[in-house]
Amino acid sequence: MTLISLDKVSKVYRMGDVEVHAMREVSFVVEERDFVAVMGSSGSGKSTLMNIIGCLDRPTSGIYRLNEREISRLDRNELAHVRNQTLGFVFQSFNLLSRTSAIDNVELPLVYAGVPARERHRRATEALRRVGLGERLDHHPNQMSGGQQQRVAIARALVTGPRVILADEPTGNLDSRTSIEIMALFQELGAAGITVMLVTHEPDVAAYAARVVVMRDGRIVTDRRQTARPAAADLKLSQPATDGAAT
Ligand code: ADP
Ligand code: MG
Repeated sequence: MTLISLDKVSKVYRMGDVEVHAMREVSFVVEERDFVAVMGSSGSGKSTLMNIIGCLDRPTSGIYRLNEREISRLDRNELAHVRNQTLGFVFQSFNLLSRTSAIDNVELPLVYAGVPARERHRRATEALRRVGLGERLDHHPNQMSGGQQQRVAIARALVTGPRVILADEPTGNLDSRTSIEIMALFQELGAAGITVMLVTHEPDVAAYAARVVVMRDGRIVTDRRQTARPAAADLKLSQPATDGAAT
């Protein structure tokens, strides 16, 4: 099933008299369960693409469909509903509340969704277990390593049961071994049926995706499948730990 579909989507930012063409007639389809890495140099339009797919920004022209709904035709409530039902977000800088426990961070989207406290706790615990942090529910982000913090952020993205995880440079602040651990986790989520789309500058990270898209000057210039991709979990086990920081 097609989850994400862009038909000649353009995005123009206007800054005074200057127009920046961040995306130029991009047509692009992602089927459910795909695992896409988006690459390209700085300024090529990767974040713009992710923001449009995440419904955080609107196309200047063209049509974007998420889960077969044409996003530009939805009103605010419908849009909020489709987003909450479908998407989970992960960011380069984790965006966690540092003085708040891991479990409270993960519960936050459920607070907004009006889920009762008991059920929130149950679901947040399960999400943290899923990312390997079942023993650290009450730790605060500032007591955790970067890799652990990103796992908390992934649990927060997962807790609402999204079909797609969108991650803009999720390994941008992590060392290479920790990046591979995070890719192992994304591969695991992919195997469990979640569609993953992430931005990365690192070919070593993109190697773990099923499909690599390269952007240049607001266009997709390469879109290829990687048939023999490695299992990140294998490599992870064969290398010594470097991200042991705070426990
Ligand atoms: P990438 O994520 O690949 O580095 P971006 O999508 O952030 O690229 O940016 C693409 C182009 O659009 C760049 O030239 C950038 O300066 C411009 N741009 C991005 N966001 C804005 C904005 N909010 N206002 C003006 N220009 C923007
Ligand atoms: Mg960017």
